[in-house]
Amino acid sequence: MKASAFSYARATSVANALDLLVAHGENAKVLSGGQSLIPAMNLRLISPELIVDIGALAELQGIAVRGDVLTIGALTRHVDLQRSPDVAAHAPLLTEAIAHVAHPAIRNRGTLGGSLAHADPASELPACMLALNATIIVRGRSGERRIPAADFFKGIYETDLSAQELLVAVELPAARKRSVHFFFEFARRRGDYAIAGLAAQGTVEGDRFTDLRLAFFAVGDRPVLARAGKKLVNVAITPAVLSEASATLAAELAPPDDHQASGNMRRHLAKVLLARCVSALLGRPNFGAGGPS
Ligand SMILES: Cc1cc2nc3c(=O)[nH]c(=O)nc-3n(C[C@H](O)[C@H](O)[C@H](O)COP(=O)(O)OP(=O)(O)OC[C@H]3O[C@@H](n4cnc5c(N)ncnc54)[C@H](O)[C@@H]3O)c2cc1C
Repeated sequence: MKASAFSYARATSVANALDLLVAHGENAKVLSGGQSLIPAMNLRLISPELIVDIGALAELQGIAVRGDVLTIGALTRHVDLQRSPDVAAHAPLLTEAIAHVAHPAIRNRGTLGGSLAHADPASELPACMLALNATIIVRGRSGERRIPAADFFKGIYETDLSAQELLVAVELPAARKRSVHFFFEFARRRGDYAIAGLAAQGTVEGDRFTDLRLAFFAVGDRPVLARAGKKLVNVAITPAVLSEASATLAAELAPPDDHQASGNMRRHLAKVLLARCVSALLGRPNFGAGGPS
């Protein structure tokens, strides 16, 4: 199938893109890497009248470290995230996760901003933003908004962005001393969307966590920053403590049934991921075998 007829405008600046979005309202769509937008148009899931191509805007590109903040422009392609020494040094969780996003051809075109604005609940990068405590920066004609990642994702393909705003960048606190991270996803094949996944970042002192952010994906209508993580902070982790966290996790998730897996299977996989994460980050192989019951 081919997309319905549409008009195309190549934005010359962020201000120009915002003018076009305001003028055309819900009838316009932003184009970044096109890896989600164009398939959706070709399948006629959406039929925008105007495409606003922001792909050439240099002001939305680049990765910079200032003090202890890593700033990543919205147009940064997945492949550039994957290869960036700054990302590897200051947000190694992202470097690890990005290898699981689709395939090289898609990573060569897809962008961080596009992935976050698209907000597929099975996507890796939105969950990483939660785990990394990111701030999402969006711009409209009246100025900039800084939105904590935990408030940005609102549902399946839904975010806090309005049709007249652009996602321009994300800011991440640089990984601290004693930072640890974990990433794993269950997928039918490498590169497929996950059936259930976990992106986690924390700090460990001695035998315990002093911080732990567990962001599960593909287990609900948006990535979930699990309250279960709090049960594991500043306590000695015993099988009983882990079991309690696992029960909390099971209660807070409401995974959907779909053609890939039942909700119950996803909940089970999330518990397995939790156990593996704790096992890997604390170096306690006895916790990770199959997860607590
Ligand atoms: C076969 C295939 C497999 C894939 N597998 C995975 C996978 O395993 N994991 C995964 O996470 N993704 C996967 N993807 C999606 C891919 O990662 C996309 O690149 C990403 O979701 C969107 O990035 P994009 O730059 O291509 O955005 P686009 O397709 O250009 O845009 C996506 C949406 O975001 C909006 N948008 C884009 N940029 C902005 C902005 N700066 N401000 C406001 N709105 C904006 C667009 O209007 C559109 O609604 C897959 C895609 C394909 C085709």
